[in-house]
Amino acid sequence: MIKFLDNKLFRYLSVFLFLNSSILPVKSSSALAAWAINTNGVLELRTKSNTNLKAYFQKANQISGDRFWVDFPGELKNPRTIKGNGPIKEIRLGKPDKGRTRLVIEFKEKTYLKPLTWQMVGLDQNRWKIKLFNPKYSFKKIGEGLVEKKRGNTKTKQNLIYKKKTNYGYLKLPEVKRNKFEVVIDPGHGGPDPGAIGIGGIRETDVVLAVSKIVKNLLSEKGVKVRLTRTNDVDLDLPPRVLIANNTDADIFVSIHANASRGKRRDINGLETFYYRGWRGRLLAKRIQKQILRVSPGSPDRGVKQGRFYVIKNTSMPAVLVEIGFLTGRLDARRLEKITHQKRLAYAIAKGILEYLDKVG
Ligand SMILES: [Zn+2]
Repeated sequence: MIKFLDNKLFRYLSVFLFLNSSILPVKSSSALAAWAINTNGVLELRTKSNTNLKAYFQKANQISGDRFWVDFPGELKNPRTIKGNGPIKEIRLGKPDKGRTRLVIEFKEKTYLKPLTWQMVGLDQNRWKIKLFNPKYSFKKIGEGLVEKKRGNTKTKQNLIYKKKTNYGYLKLPEVKRNKFEVVIDPGHGGPDPGAIGIGGIRETDVVLAVSKIVKNLLSEKGVKVRLTRTNDVDLDLPPRVLIANNTDADIFVSIHANASRGKRRDINGLETFYYRGWRGRLLAKRIQKQILRVSPGSPDRGVKQGRFYVIKNTSMPAVLVEIGFLTGRLDARRLEKITHQKRLAYAIAKGILEYLDKVG
């Protein structure tokens, strides 16, 4: 891979713009193997090696909306239409003429596109990408096949992907003495108080509840007794959260939140964990912070800090408040809305907790 990058760097392919015409595209020389439009608005393609793709854009007319398409040689077996979401109306795979495949992406009306800035980038002999839009609303990935599949040993690669999906080896959870510990997990906000509202309307109350529930399951599997201060979207003031904790013999209290920046600045991302006092609280905060950073590459480490938040100030056991990212941040928000990332964060928080219990308990 590195060798390839050394001597070829990136290949760029310009997009042909037909702002008001219906000229047929020129012939190209390779077949489409897999494609995906990712949540960041990037279309990724995998083709046969050394393909000469042709990409086109046409502005909306009476018949259809803005369209972007790529032509590949090799005839498609089953022409099909795939329903879009977000700014994408639909994706069509067809054969415009004999021996050719065409991937058409049709956008919804009034989608703000900047085709003049588009550039198809060759990442490898068989991989391509092009940024089509900036997702303003939540967008679900659409695609067929594995765009990242290498040309080598397919079986190994598929196994790897399977493994990645099913076990979090890199986050393997430590064992602790069963039926010894009790933990209170406090999903922030709820009910009429949704907490932070992020990009695309993503709500803190939902994200932290989802993460908290997974943390509970993971800890329960390790024989730790877990109590959630809330299990659904209910209104729960701060004093009762503290009371719940103080009325149990809980060893620790962990409040889970997500951040919002002032002015909803999209460039502000990052994770931080607060404790109120004591070396135990600080140690717990450090363990959790370290783990959540591991599953959030690229997101800044805002550190372990002392904070005077009500729930950690008034609880009688070591207590921390975790901020798992900025719902208003471009990088964090995109991740926080995904269940896969919520699971990773939950694993990370559970791991930090178990490490702490194992060490201190
Ligand atoms: Zn909050």
